[in-house]
Amino acid sequence: MSLKTSTLTMEKRLEKSKADQVMQASVAKAQDMQWEKREGARQKLGNWEGWRDLGEQIRQQVLNHLPDYLDEFANNVAERGGHVCFAKDAKEARAYIEKVVSDKKAKRIVKSKSMVTAEIDLDQMIEKMGLQVMETDLAEFILQENDWDEPSHIVFPAIHLNRDNVQDIFKRKLGYTGDNEPVNEARKAREVMRKYFLQADVGITGCNFAIADQGLINLNTNEGNADLTIGIPKTHIVVMGMERIVPSIKEAEVLDNMLARSAVGQDITTYCSFVGPKNNDENDGPEDFHVVIIDNGRSEALGTPLQPVLQCIRCGSCLNVCPVYRHIGGEGYGSLYPGPIGISLTPVLGGYEEFHDLPYACSLCAACDATCPVKIPLHEIITEHRKIMTNDLKMGRGSFNDMQMRVIGAGTGSPFLFNGAMTFAHTGMKMLSHKKPIVVKNLYNNGGFMKMGPGMVKGWTDVRDLPIAPKASHTFRRWFKKRDK
Ligand code: SF4
Repeated sequence: MSLKTSTLTMEKRLEKSKADQVMQASVAKAQDMQWEKREGARQKLGNWEGWRDLGEQIRQQVLNHLPDYLDEFANNVAERGGHVCFAKDAKEARAYIEKVVSDKKAKRIVKSKSMVTAEIDLDQMIEKMGLQVMETDLAEFILQENDWDEPSHIVFPAIHLNRDNVQDIFKRKLGYTGDNEPVNEARKAREVMRKYFLQADVGITGCNFAIADQGLINLNTNEGNADLTIGIPKTHIVVMGMERIVPSIKEAEVLDNMLARSAVGQDITTYCSFVGPKNNDENDGPEDFHVVIIDNGRSEALGTPLQPVLQCIRCGSCLNVCPVYRHIGGEGYGSLYPGPIGISLTPVLGGYEEFHDLPYACSLCAACDATCPVKIPLHEIITEHRKIMTNDLKMGRGSFNDMQMRVIGAGTGSPFLFNGAMTFAHTGMKMLSHKKPIVVKNLYNNGGFMKMGPGMVKGWTDVRDLPIAPKASHTFRRWFKKRDK
């Protein structure tokens, strides 16, 4: 897996999503359930807006002094006997991990859930090395058994599958003979994983937050698989995006609190661990501890209007309120990071050439801004991407789209032109509305119809009513002017 999860065009992906009723039902159910749990957990904390302000301040403080905190963290890891690699991109990160794994002569690797390892294609690299790798997060395990199916949510990667799908996958791949009860399916997964854990040579995890003044990493899970991944193999490799840092445990405590409530509607996750290299007086834990800190395009956003996207703590709350995500699911985006955070972050990491469609998979309703625990202005970032693309010669300026927007801008910016257009709108639209054949019923004024919008307009008129504008003498503006004051 890498940042790009599909070779289909956006149009084809959307058609596929539209036809996938199981996915739509599963996503809608999960969104509705999460809504209640999340809001309940936030209310329990009290003064949620105050917490959001604090979360935002912590993340901004870190990003504004990122080189200092990264330095401090790396020095403290080294002092504890661990190793840190700063990787410019996915290739450098993979090369470092490949070397560690080869030096250890590892044969089996266990992994806990980590988006950034998927971002750098780590599973595929390990398999190419001829080694065995097992995803130990239950949802990731299901996806692996489903022939490396793509994750479709950043917190619930298998949200597009239901219990029957899981039963089929386990039957096919693991010889499972049980029913479709999630508890029995989880028991089967645990049985397979436990044996594997005991034979693993290397454990690879992500990191929720890296604690700068301690040289520790902080992980939040509900299954305990990350703690087994850390505790059993002799070597632990942490892979993290360069922005996932906090000054001290105090700030991690604030963000853990907000993360659990926003992600899964819990006060705190079942396991909340702070780990580093094994101390001399400890029996358990990894003897070798490596942290790979990945840039992969993130630093390009620093100091630009896109910087706030790096505040993200990957709670997935913005996906859970997004009306577009509700309809197209994760796979519709064709990007490892879906939903509002995905369309804000992915062009930063993967560039506009590859991901120019993504910022348009948004209605700009800003429900994501309102739910984000660290107050990322997601819809502004999405607009900023559109602006960058339109102003870039290759992507927009001078294009038909650009010209169209300029004409509309000039028309709506001038009261003279706007009022003139409104005077003729009724007559003009009446002409358009009589085109045949009839597809969409016009609900205004007793049945005008419009089908054949030219070019791009057709995409709009195929699925929407286009009411005929009222006569100039009946418009709101006229009424407002004449109304009884
Ligand atoms: S952008 Fe905000 S709401 Fe979305 S995943 Fe990141 S922290 Fe959560």
